[in-house]
Amino acid sequence: MATSDPARILARLGARPRKGLGQHFLVDARVAARQIDHARVTRDDVVMEIGPGLGVLTRGLVARARKVVAIEADRILAAYLRDEIPEAEIVHGDALKVEWPPFDVMASNLPYRISSPLTFRLLAAPFDRAVLMYQWEFARRMVAGPGTPDYSRLSVGVYRRAKCEVLERVPRNAFRPQPRVDSALVRLEPRPPPFPLEHPDLFDAVVDALFEHRRKTIENGLRLAWRRLAGSPEALERILLGLPYLRRRVEELRPEEIALLTDAIARAKA
Ligand code: SAM
Repeated sequence: MATSDPARILARLGARPRKGLGQHFLVDARVAARQIDHARVTRDDVVMEIGPGLGVLTRGLVARARKVVAIEADRILAAYLRDEIPEAEIVHGDALKVEWPPFDVMASNLPYRISSPLTFRLLAAPFDRAVLMYQWEFARRMVAGPGTPDYSRLSVGVYRRAKCEVLERVPRNAFRPQPRVDSALVRLEPRPPPFPLEHPDLFDAVVDALFEHRRKTIENGLRLAWRRLAGSPEALERILLGLPYLRRRVEELRPEEIALLTDAIARAKA
């Protein structure tokens, strides 16, 4: 089952798909319906949508939610949506920059270029659940575990903040224009870190520093990142003296172990 042809609607608006804005429009209405089901949207929910495009999700969301706020960067599409879906509040702007109102649920088919900063912004905001469409490879990295090639700063950053589930793979032919890769629907549900985390900011700094040099030993990775963690290379050498896992690599360490390493760094700094 396909929705209306995006190319025809855009032509009517005097527009074309904008690559720079990641405009690949979902044309399989069954996928949109499943995405809304996965988000378990009810009449109690305020829903936030990033990049509503031509409104394939927005239409379904307004039928189910108490309120829908959608942020769209493309001025022509924002104006089109205000006419087409007056029940939704359409904000024209960059979702990474504009202020977000409080919301319960996020449901979005994300522009892929902003997947990472948008996800980290979302995970820092209060919300109940999110069902988001990502590129398949990005989704794999979100849920990857230690010792796998996909394990990354993103995997650790997500794991420490949310339960994350890849719900389904969505083939590229569900979109127009067709992207080069498949997509995935992913559900995020925030929860407290599933391990003791006494120094969350330092933990993030350690994760960033170590994944920049993921093939190096912890010892060498920390040395290369001394500016983030100590006042001088000599001060970093003193910190190193009391640390565990020095001969291992961050790509092998579980987030729990990175937290233990962080605690040891915090103790050594104090
Ligand atoms: N949700 C629609 C769908 O499923 O067909 C469109 C999805 S398309 C992959 C991404 C949408 O995000 C486009 O409408 C694009 O204009 C919009 N967009 C791109 N960058 C954005 C940003 N920084 N802030 C808000 N919207 C953005």
